[in-house]
Amino acid sequence: MSSPDTQKTFKTGETIMRQGDKGESAYIIEEGSVEIIIERPDGEEQSVGTRGPGSMIGEMAIVDNAPRTATVKAVQDCTLLEITQEDFSRRLKNADPVLRMTTQVILTRYRDTLTRAEIRRLTNSWPPAELLEQEHAEETHAVEDIKITNDFKTALEKNEISLHYQPIVNFQTGKISGFEALMRWEHPEKGFISPAVFIPVIEESGLIVEASRWALREACKTLKRIESQTGHDRELHMSVNFSSTDFASENFVDTIYNIISESDVDPKQIHLEITERLLMQQPDNAKDTLLMCRKAGMGIAIDDFGTGYSSLSYLHYFPIDTLKIDQSFIRDMHKDEGAMELVKSIIALGKNLKMAIVAEGIEDKEEAKALRDLECDLAQGYLYARPMPERELIDIVRNWEVMEF
Ligand code: C2E
Ligand code: CA
Ligand code: CA
Repeated sequence: MSSPDTQKTFKTGETIMRQGDKGESAYIIEEGSVEIIIERPDGEEQSVGTRGPGSMIGEMAIVDNAPRTATVKAVQDCTLLEITQEDFSRRLKNADPVLRMTTQVILTRYRDTLTRAEIRRLTNSWPPAELLEQEHAEETHAVEDIKITNDFKTALEKNEISLHYQPIVNFQTGKISGFEALMRWEHPEKGFISPAVFIPVIEESGLIVEASRWALREACKTLKRIESQTGHDRELHMSVNFSSTDFASENFVDTIYNIISESDVDPKQIHLEITERLLMQQPDNAKDTLLMCRKAGMGIAIDDFGTGYSSLSYLHYFPIDTLKIDQSFIRDMHKDEGAMELVKSIIALGKNLKMAIVAEGIEDKEEAKALRDLECDLAQGYLYARPMPERELIDIVRNWEVMEF
């Protein structure tokens, strides 16, 4: 729902905004006119112009909450349309992804130009080289993001996106318990692009919603094919990653439930992997959504556990089945006493709360042994298997040898 824009009126001579105050909104002049005055470093006030209907004033506030750079007074009775930062962000969020990113680039550039002008005013010199360099890097980055967004739009249709699957192994039995589906992008010119690069960008632009649904559908189909070709009927699980953008999308639970049922997969076999950050961003909404997912039978795993906003009290609040210990702790376990203690505590915590614990990023036997001795439930990492395409996966599942240490 969009909130109605607020109109504000100011009488002749009234101050609309004051230089140095924290800005919270911009205004579009509907009627009347205003004078823009800046206070010079010597304390003198100087009029720098007037603005009439159709002009915007105070726009820096919606860019980055910057203090007002000038004082604005009504020179005639004025009617102004107020645009709050929140309103602006909401409109931007709902805009077409390309429009959104273009706007962001222009705003960043605009802010930098103003910062540069400000430095010049204060120092009477050109901006320092580092600032220019940093600006250039930010711009290049933003332009790169626009390219990724544009290319990704067609990448799904052009079959450039695929899924790889990484086995997750039961520590006690040594058998495969399930898989995690991970997205792969083979770009025709740029080659392989890491999900660590493109996922945050498509998350930002909203394209992730379509991508996640595609991934879930693909992962369900793969699971069915593995079952029929290896005889593991309804025993294995499939973990699929979801972002906060997915959670905020319309009819999230209905849509994913439908995808799962259409694939004839038991919802119990699907585990949603989400991060702590997602939970903390909108705890109430996340809780409602997760409760619906759980009611439908799906499992819920917290990814990268230990790296986020770990206030442990929240663990009770959400319906969580699994904690995935972040790979950074596993990597440091034998180098750093602190990391080892953390791993022990997470395992103990998980046991108390009746959650399953997965250790991610296991690369050597020493780590695996230690984790098994700590009674960690599940293992994932290159030691067992790398993420791989479905055709290799089927062979791996058929010929899986229980690993002994
Ligand atoms: P993640 O969800 O934490 O996935 C685990 C990552 O660890 C994967 O990286 C996997 O290849 C890697 N990994 C597994 N075992 C080992 C190991 O033993 N050593 C090391 N060094 N790495 C290991 P990947 O595939 O590059 O994905 C990176 C991240 O991108 C994922 O981290 C996840 O946050 C995101 N991502 C990937 N696919 C998807 C997706 O379909 N949807 C969403 N929302 N995010 C995805
Ligand atoms: Ca994950
Ligand atoms: Ca992880």
